[in-house]
Amino acid sequence: MQNRVQILGVPFSTLTFEETLHKLEQDLRGTTPRHIITANPEIVMLAREDAAFMALLQDVELITPDGIGAVWASKYYGHALHDRVTGVELSTALIEHCAENGHGVFLLGASPQSNALAVQNLRHRYPNLRIDGRDGYFKETDLPEIKAAVRGFQPSLLLVGLGVPRQELFISKHKSELNVPVSIGVGGCIDIFAGVVKRAPKLWQNLKLEWMYRLLSQPSRWRRQLVLPKFVITVLTDKNRKK
Ligand code: UDP
Repeated sequence: MQNRVQILGVPFSTLTFEETLHKLEQDLRGTTPRHIITANPEIVMLAREDAAFMALLQDVELITPDGIGAVWASKYYGHALHDRVTGVELSTALIEHCAENGHGVFLLGASPQSNALAVQNLRHRYPNLRIDGRDGYFKETDLPEIKAAVRGFQPSLLLVGLGVPRQELFISKHKSELNVPVSIGVGGCIDIFAGVVKRAPKLWQNLKLEWMYRLLSQPSRWRRQLVLPKFVITVLTDKNRKK
């Protein structure tokens, strides 16, 4: 397929940030529900252990490299990606576009406090933005009500922050019913919009050390980061990689 580089079987988009944004701005006006994943090594390694999740990844509209791991690995697979297309940057730019063009945005995920704060902060930042949200701590029995809330609001952009892989499974399962033009799994981005979690300072981002900043500022994540060396070894020993 064009505009893709396969990293350990996961088809990453080779579009730049600007190209991705341009494509999604068009998609916001469309009628086909599109599922976007901003993927890191954790998602790739999960897919290697779970065939159904790998099949889901191979079926979505677009997978962007949300992290230096995928950018690093891409050079071994025939198409060196230039930079990351992160969930937080992509969703910020799309929210701004929605505010300017009258598209609705729905945030699904994070704690009730964090979700309400994120909605409030974004309303404050973009007074013209039509936005609503709902926290991500719901039970299976709440699903009909949640789906009705999303459908009733008719957003063009649905940002789902339930953690990996729950957010991907949620979008994949419900996207045709919800019928939102663009749905993106955004992990902890709603907490960032709420100001509850801070992004790494620019210097750390420029040094490509955002992952280390997150590890130091949220030590409970260290266990999850163990997947990084495993990812590196898997790429370096992969028979399908190019030298
Ligand atoms: N979360 C949620 N419902 C749950 C579990 C998690 O809404 O049942 C939220 C959690 O509050 C956080 C996000 O999902 O806002 C996951 O954040 P994390 O930092 O783990 O995501 P990452 O960006 O690392 O995928």
